[in-house]
Amino acid sequence: MTNVQPSKPSDPRNSPTALRILREQQRLEVDWADGHQTRYAAEALRWLCPCAYCRGEAGLPGWLDANPKLTSEQTTLTGGEMIGGYALCAFWSDGHRTGYYSFTLLRDRCPCEGCLSEPR
Ligand SMILES: [Zn+2]
Ligand SMILES: [Zn+2]
Repeated sequence: MTNVQPSKPSDPRNSPTALRILREQQRLEVDWADGHQTRYAAEALRWLCPCAYCRGEAGLPGWLDANPKLTSEQTTLTGGEMIGGYALCAFWSDGHRTGYYSFTLLRDRCPCEGCLSEPR
Protein backbone atom coordinates (compact mmCIF):
# COMPACT_ATOMS: atom_id res chain seq x y z
CA MET A 1 0.00 0.00 0.00
CA THR A 2 1.31 3.40 -0.96
CA ASN A 3 0.33 6.46 0.99
CA VAL A 4 0.85 9.67 -0.87
CA GLN A 5 0.62 12.87 1.08
CA PRO A 6 -0.78 15.74 -0.92
CA SER A 7 0.12 19.33 -0.17
CA LYS A 8 -2.20 21.97 1.18
CA PRO A 9 -5.83 22.13 0.19
CA SER A 10 -7.42 25.06 -1.56
CA ASP A 11 -10.94 24.11 -2.66
CA PRO A 12 -12.00 21.32 -0.27
CA ARG A 13 -14.00 19.63 -3.02
CA ASN A 14 -10.91 19.11 -5.14
CA SER A 15 -8.45 18.73 -2.29
CA PRO A 16 -7.53 15.23 -1.24
CA THR A 17 -6.53 14.70 2.36
CA ALA A 18 -5.29 11.21 1.50
CA LEU A 19 -4.71 9.12 -1.59
CA ARG A 20 -4.26 5.41 -1.25
CA ILE A 21 -3.17 3.04 -3.95
CA LEU A 22 -4.22 -0.40 -2.81
CA ARG A 23 -2.16 -2.72 -4.93
CA GLU A 24 -3.68 -5.90 -3.61
CA GLN A 25 -7.22 -4.79 -4.27
CA GLN A 26 -6.19 -2.90 -7.40
CA ARG A 27 -7.94 0.21 -6.27
CA LEU A 28 -7.34 3.89 -5.76
CA GLU A 29 -9.05 5.57 -2.84
CA VAL A 30 -9.18 9.29 -2.34
CA ASP A 31 -10.38 11.05 0.80
CA TRP A 32 -11.43 14.62 0.11
CA ALA A 33 -11.23 17.62 2.41
CA ASP A 34 -15.02 17.97 2.30
CA GLY A 35 -15.43 14.45 3.71
CA HIS A 36 -16.28 12.68 0.46
CA GLN A 37 -14.51 9.47 -0.52
CA THR A 38 -13.85 8.33 -4.07
CA ARG A 39 -12.84 4.84 -5.13
CA TYR A 40 -11.65 3.78 -8.52
CA ALA A 41 -11.07 0.25 -9.66
CA ALA A 42 -7.72 0.10 -11.44
CA GLU A 43 -9.26 -0.68 -14.78
CA ALA A 44 -11.69 2.24 -14.59
CA LEU A 45 -8.79 4.48 -13.70
CA ARG A 46 -6.79 3.30 -16.68
CA TRP A 47 -9.68 4.16 -18.96
CA LEU A 48 -9.60 7.69 -17.56
CA CYS A 49 -5.91 8.14 -18.32
CA PRO A 50 -5.69 11.76 -19.42
CA CYS A 51 -2.33 11.62 -21.19
CA ALA A 52 -1.89 12.74 -24.79
CA TYR A 53 -1.19 9.21 -25.93
CA CYS A 54 -4.40 7.79 -24.46
CA ARG A 55 -6.64 10.78 -25.06
CA GLY A 56 -5.16 12.23 -28.20
CA GLU A 57 -4.14 15.83 -28.73
CA ALA A 58 -4.69 18.65 -31.16
CA GLY A 59 -8.03 17.18 -32.16
CA LEU A 60 -6.59 13.76 -32.99
CA PRO A 61 -8.06 10.71 -31.31
CA GLY A 62 -5.99 8.91 -28.70
CA TRP A 63 -5.25 5.27 -28.19
CA LEU A 64 -8.18 4.75 -25.79
CA ASP A 65 -10.57 6.31 -28.28
CA ALA A 66 -10.03 3.27 -30.50
CA ASN A 67 -11.59 1.21 -27.71
CA PRO A 68 -8.64 -1.19 -27.40
CA LYS A 69 -8.80 -4.43 -25.48
CA LEU A 70 -6.71 -3.75 -22.41
CA THR A 71 -4.32 -6.42 -21.21
CA SER A 72 -3.98 -7.22 -17.53
CA GLU A 73 -0.60 -5.44 -17.56
CA GLN A 74 -2.24 -2.33 -18.88
CA THR A 75 -4.81 -2.29 -16.10
CA THR A 76 -2.60 -3.32 -13.18
CA LEU A 77 -1.71 -0.44 -10.89
CA THR A 78 1.78 -0.69 -9.49
CA GLY A 79 2.01 2.65 -7.71
CA GLY A 80 1.87 6.37 -8.15
CA GLU A 81 3.30 9.68 -7.12
CA MET A 82 2.12 13.20 -6.54
CA ILE A 83 2.80 15.74 -9.23
CA GLY A 84 3.24 19.30 -8.07
CA GLY A 85 0.46 19.07 -5.48
CA TYR A 86 -2.30 19.07 -8.09
CA ALA A 87 -2.29 15.62 -9.66
CA LEU A 88 -1.53 11.97 -9.19
CA CYS A 89 0.68 10.16 -11.65
CA ALA A 90 -0.37 6.51 -11.81
CA PHE A 91 2.15 3.77 -12.59
CA TRP A 92 0.96 0.81 -14.61
CA SER A 93 2.49 -2.57 -14.93
CA ASP A 94 3.03 -2.15 -18.69
CA GLY A 95 5.33 0.79 -17.90
CA HIS A 96 2.80 3.48 -18.75
CA ARG A 97 3.22 6.43 -16.43
CA THR A 98 2.46 9.54 -18.39
CA GLY A 99 -1.08 10.03 -17.10
CA TYR A 100 -1.35 12.89 -14.64
CA TYR A 101 -4.74 12.58 -13.02
CA SER A 102 -5.55 16.02 -11.70
CA PHE A 103 -7.52 16.12 -8.48
CA THR A 104 -10.28 17.94 -10.31
CA LEU A 105 -10.53 15.08 -12.79
CA LEU A 106 -10.53 12.46 -10.03
CA ARG A 107 -13.30 14.28 -8.23
CA ASP A 108 -15.36 15.13 -11.31
CA ARG A 109 -15.32 11.53 -12.51
CA CYS A 110 -16.05 10.03 -9.09
CA PRO A 111 -17.98 6.85 -9.87
CA CYS A 112 -19.93 6.66 -6.60
CA GLU A 113 -23.70 6.60 -6.69
CA GLY A 114 -24.09 10.02 -5.13
CA CYS A 115 -21.89 11.69 -7.71
CA LEU A 116 -23.35 9.77 -10.64
CA SER A 117 -26.83 10.98 -9.75
CA GLU A 118 -25.67 14.60 -9.61
CA PRO A 119 -26.14 16.65 -12.72
CA ARG A 120 -22.79 17.48 -14.35
ZN1 LIG B 1 -2.17 7.37 -20.88
ZN1 LIG C 1 -18.56 10.49 -5.26
